[in-house]
Parts: sequence; structure tokens; C-alpha cells
Amino acid sequence: MAQGRYANIIIDISHEKVDKTFQYRIPDKLRNILEEGMCVQVPFGKGNRLRQGYVVEITDRAEFPDEKQKSILGIVEGSVSVEADAVRLAAWMRRTYGSTMIAALKTVLPVRRSVRPKEKKKIIRRMNDEEILSLLGECMRKRQNARARVLKELCAESVLPYELVTGKLNVSSAALNSLESQGVITIETESCYRNPVKLNTGKEEGRTLSDRQQMICRDILEDYDRGKRTPCLIHGITGSGKTEVYLSLIEGMIERGKQCIVLIPEIALTYQTLLRFYKRFGERVSVMNSSLSAGEKYDQCQRAKEGLLDIIIGPRSALFVPFPDLGMIVMDEEHESSYKSETMPRYHARETAEQLAVIKNACFVMGSATPSLEAYYRARAGKYRLYTLNQRLTGGSLAAVSIVDLRQELKEGNRSAFSRRLKELMEERLEKKEQAMLFLNRRGYAGFVSCRACGHVMKCPHCDVSLSQHLGGRLQCHYCGYETVMPAKCPSCASPYILGFKAGTEQIEQQLARTFPGIRVLRMDGDTTRTKGSYEKILSAFSSGEADVLVGTQMIVKGHDFPNVTLVGVLAADLSLNDSDYRAGEKTFQLLTQAAGRAGRGIRPGEAVIQTYRPDHYSIIRAAQQDYEAFYQEEILYREMGGYPPALHMMAVLITSPEEKKGQALAGEMAELARNLPVKAVVMGPSRASVGKINDIYRFVFYCKSADYGQLTQIRDRIEQYRENTLKGQSLKENIQFDFDPTDSY
Ligand code: ADP
Ligand code: ZN
Ligand code: ZN
Repeated sequence: MAQGRYANIIIDISHEKVDKTFQYRIPDKLRNILEEGMCVQVPFGKGNRLRQGYVVEITDRAEFPDEKQKSILGIVEGSVSVEADAVRLAAWMRRTYGSTMIAALKTVLPVRRSVRPKEKKKIIRRMNDEEILSLLGECMRKRQNARARVLKELCAESVLPYELVTGKLNVSSAALNSLESQGVITIETESCYRNPVKLNTGKEEGRTLSDRQQMICRDILEDYDRGKRTPCLIHGITGSGKTEVYLSLIEGMIERGKQCIVLIPEIALTYQTLLRFYKRFGERVSVMNSSLSAGEKYDQCQRAKEGLLDIIIGPRSALFVPFPDLGMIVMDEEHESSYKSETMPRYHARETAEQLAVIKNACFVMGSATPSLEAYYRARAGKYRLYTLNQRLTGGSLAAVSIVDLRQELKEGNRSAFSRRLKELMEERLEKKEQAMLFLNRRGYAGFVSCRACGHVMKCPHCDVSLSQHLGGRLQCHYCGYETVMPAKCPSCASPYILGFKAGTEQIEQQLARTFPGIRVLRMDGDTTRTKGSYEKILSAFSSGEADVLVGTQMIVKGHDFPNVTLVGVLAADLSLNDSDYRAGEKTFQLLTQAAGRAGRGIRPGEAVIQTYRPDHYSIIRAAQQDYEAFYQEEILYREMGGYPPALHMMAVLITSPEEKKGQALAGEMAELARNLPVKAVVMGPSRASVGKINDIYRFVFYCKSADYGQLTQIRDRIEQYRENTLKGQSLKENIQFDFDPTDSY
């Protein structure tokens, strides 16, 4: 336990100005009780308002004279403490991502308040067989039927679950209470942990690993035993046995008495994934994700702390489950964009996991079929160990992919959403009773409008985002509300074939019905998956053959195994290339590779058709070839020439203001400040953000780039300082945010 008379405390106020510790005296009653990480109540500020805060340090070093120190009032009842390691991680997050310490502390604390344990009641017999029998006879004579029902049951079992008696036996709690007061039974309450994993299956042994899989496992575990902790990246196509490697590594960790965190993207946390871990490790596996209740979250942390769990599976927040002796962090689908937090601190789970592994002396293993440029770049530079798995173990081979030029289709008179090639293959599948998946590559945009002749997309003149088609043919910007009418001709090439992709998937569904009479279609998009469980329902319906085709947005391409799917169609592949985002090529490549990977998972060979207006774009060509290495070579060249991550680090500084002029001026001032600092960094901008206004708040952005991350944090610190010292109360409505190595464009 930390010794000392004073506590340095982070006050729970989300304001940049109080982002430092405040010192308080530890009163006698809390000596030897107070620990670092505890949540306490203190008087704060001139008015001594009651505030909560977290103790981050206990010390004997007084920052100012003892008589001027205020005292801590007490420990907040029912609060959860931050573990010492988590405080260290939070401090790192604050430094690295530029949030306040309190925001960082709240992030590393999955639950802040303790939740009362779930209670289970049972009924325990207090009498011997004879006594029970005679009492039963008495009750029957007196026609006390409810009591008789309980007693009968108690002849056979000496302990009964309370719910069984009040439920199935339909006995009132009043009747049970009176039996208890007569000394016939006792009602006992015991608390138990909530378990969000509701599975019950037998155990399954692991498969015999292939030589390559074995080599990887042996290598990583040997390094671990020798104390080497270089992060590892497993690059392997889907179905090449990465998960089997994770399972085997985890087994090795459990043998060593260590625990593991398994990160997977939220969308991939399906029943099948969980089942696979559960079959291997049983009750000692649990999950952590946003759909758990507060009680479930709290209890998973308790189970972890008390050594009742070996493995926790979940999206990025699973990183913060407090294990006593963490041995390994596994991060599957390392490239997924959902690993980056969208709220402050805008942390990336990859970097944060790497840091946590350092703090905990654990090892860190990533896997992906299409590694992020960041991870692969580091692997090639020797900062990560790279392993490859390049054979499918289920026997299925990679799909044969063809690219169709949609401009050519139109020229030759085909105006439908399906190219002739795709139509032909679809008909073949329908005949053979095999299944197909059709994928519309557009995130969130329902009704964007584009020219079928040249591919031109109608954009908002103010925001640089696609306009959406609404009822009555109006075109509207979802960000700023700009409206215009549907043009009769394409503004770029004057073709009359400028059309809305109406509700996207919905329209495709209608076209399918028209083109292939009698076809059975399931649709999966934002609309059809709004209610809980609908996502699983659609997938299992498709899996059991209730439809010939599954149409959907990008949610259908992630990691589902449908052995009967032998055809995948990507209806308009280049739509993600329209984003004004340096990662557009990477995102397109990932999506298309995944989509193509959906075909031919079973024994039958698969085919994929990629329809596009940009058949010559390298991300499309390389995805069709499923050649990651070649894609990487071209993409990294582009990043190096443009000075984008991972070649350089980048910090986006976002300035928002309800007043356009003020926001612009402040952005200009800050960019100028950054430019004049004696740091090795390039400053670009400011300019209006690509989404220039949201909800009447104007957005301006400038970027700082440097090979050295530290130079960027220095710029950030100076901007923060300047805001605090010079601007003071002046610019309360203006807001400045920092985003390091952003994954989306501003
Ligand atoms: P990934 O995680 O790379 O997609 P998986 O680990 O899920 O790959 O493996 C794909 C399929 O191959 C699964 O059905 C899995 O059970 C099977 N598999 C994995 N390793 C082996 C092995 N060594 N021998 C036989 N089958 C294996
Ligand atoms: Zn707009
Ligand atoms: Zn056009």
C-alpha cells in the first residue's frame, strides 16, 4: 500500500482547464485505507463544491503548506477503483491522444459503479423424512394443496430452487414464509455472478495443427518464455487457420497460469465465434461488449479479478478488463476501422493493446487477411514479427474473380444493376440451387445519385459529401441540409442517364425480382437489422437455405461462413473510392478482398464478379487478384509520396465554432502558431473540413505531419497552452480537438 500524507487527485470535470492533479490531505480516518486509483469525494474550488475524483498518487511531498491543504471527505460508496496499471495506461492515453486525464481514466474503467450481485434463492429442508411425511399427510387432510405440493417435492429433494417452487409448483411466497417460520424449511439467498454467455455444450479438443501453424505457435511461446515481447502479425487469408493458432496459443498461456484478452470487431462477435472458444475453454471464457447490462459488465470484471476467467472476448473495450496476470492480447481482424475510438480519447486499440502489453509484460498477437498499412509497414521494418499462412485448410480454393467495366455495359445498352456476366452466373446458380451474395459497397448513404455513363457522383457544393435522393426527386445533403433538384443531365458529361441508386439494397431487391422471376431474396442493411437479433435471424435463414440470394451493404461481407455460396457479386465496387480520404484505396481493397473471400468456402469452387467504373484502379485490380503484397507495394508508394500515415504521422486539428468567421480565424491563428514553432513538422491548411458544417457548427481543419510522433504532441501541447493562457474565456464557443493518425477524413 502506498504511504504518505497527501493524495494527488484528478477531479471529475470534463474541462480542459482542470486537467491536472490537485493535492489534498489524507485525513486520519483514511490513513492505511486509501489507495491509488480510488474514487473519493473532495471539496473543490472557491465555493468548496462537492466533487468526485480519482487518486492517482499518494505522496509525502506537500505541494503547498499543510495548513492550506483541504482534506479528502471520504471514499465514494459503491465506486470502482482504477487499478494501478490502468492508471498508467490512462496516463499514456492522455499523452498519446491528447485527451484530459479524467476522460482517459473513464475509458480504462469499463464500469465505474459496483452493481449489486444477482441473487439466487433456494429452499432447504429442515426436517427428516418421517416428519415431512407426517406433515404432508396433515396438509392433504386439511386440503392445504400448495403446501402439500412443496412437501411432496421435498420428500425427493432436500434442496429446491426458489423459482421452481414459486413458478412451476405455483406456491406463493407467503406460504413459503410461513413454512419457514414453522421451521420446516429455510430460505437461503446466495449471490452469484451474472454470466452473459448462455451456452451449454460439450468440450472439443483442438485440431492437429499443420506444420506451419505449429511452427508459429512454438515460435511465439518460446519467445514468450525467453522474455522476448516483439508484437506478432499473422497475415493469413480467411480460412487459413489463424483462429486455430490463437486457440492453441491461448491454451499455452493457460498452461502458464496466464489470462488472455481476445479483441474482435464488434460485428464479428457472433454466436459461432463464441461457440468456438466456449467449446475449447468452457466456463472460463466470457465476453465484454456494449450490449451487456451494467451488472453483467461489472460481474465480468469481478470474475476476471478473482481469477474465475481465463479469457475475455470483445471489441476494443475488452482491453480494460482487469486480469491479475495477463499473458496475451490477441487482436483478430487487426485492420478493422472500428478499432479506433470515435470519442475522446480517440485511441486506437492496436496501439493501446501494444502499450498495455508492455505495461503487463504480456505478448501481443495480431491477425488479418488484409493487414492495415500501419501493421504491415511495421512488420516490414522489423518492429513486428511477421508470419504468413497462405493455404485454406478446408480445401476450398480462392474464388476466381472477374472485373466488369460498367461504362462498357452501358455503352452496349445494358442499363440494369447487373452486368451480363453477373446475370449469366446468377442464372447458373439458380439452376444448380447454389447461393449467391450481392454486395453494395456504400456505407450509410442510402440514395446517392450518379451518372451511369461516366460515374460522376452528385456532391454537396459545401460539404464534399454525396447528396442523397429524397422523395419527390429532391437531392439533399445529410450534413448541412443543402438542397437542389435532380438534374436532367449529368453535369460532367451531359448524359441523360444520371440516376439515383434509390434505397440502394432495396432497389436491388426489386430489380432481382424483376430479372429473375421466383427468386427468393433476403436483404441485410441498416433498415432490416434495426431490431435486436434481426441480424442473426437473417444470417441463419440464409444459412439454412431459405433464400437464393443475400443482398446487403458491407455488413454481409464480414466473416460469415456459408458453404453453399458459390457466387459473390460486388455491384459497384468503386463507390468507396469517391471518399476524399487517403485511406479510400485501402478500404476498397479490404472490402473487395473480403467480399471475394465469401465465395467458395465449401467444397464447390467459387466465383466473384466485381462491377466497377474504375476497372483500372490498382486497389480493384489487386483485390481481384487477391494479391495483398502487390497492393501494399503500390499503396505504400502513394502514402510515401503524399506524406500520409504510416510513412509519416499525422495530427488532425479540428476547430469548430457556431460562427463561421470566428472558427476560420481561430483555425488560421492556430495553424500559424503551429507553423512558427521550432518543431520538425509540416503544417497544411487550414481549410474547411470536408464535412464543413454539421448541425450549424462550422468545422475547420488543419493537418500537421511529422515522422516523429513526439513533434506532433509538442504542437498539441503548445496549442493547449496558448488556449489556456491567451484565449482564456474569450473563445468559449470555439472548440479544438486533436486526432492522431486519423482513420477517417474530416
Ligand atoms: P481463419 O481464422 O484464418 O479464418 P480458422 O482458424 O477459422 O481460419 O480455420 C478455418 C477452418 O479450417 C476452420 O473450419 C477450422 O476448423 C479449420 N482448421 C484450422 N486449422 C486446422 C487444422 N490444423 N487441421 C484441420 N482443419 C483446420
Ligand atoms: Zn452539405
Ligand atoms: Zn456523366
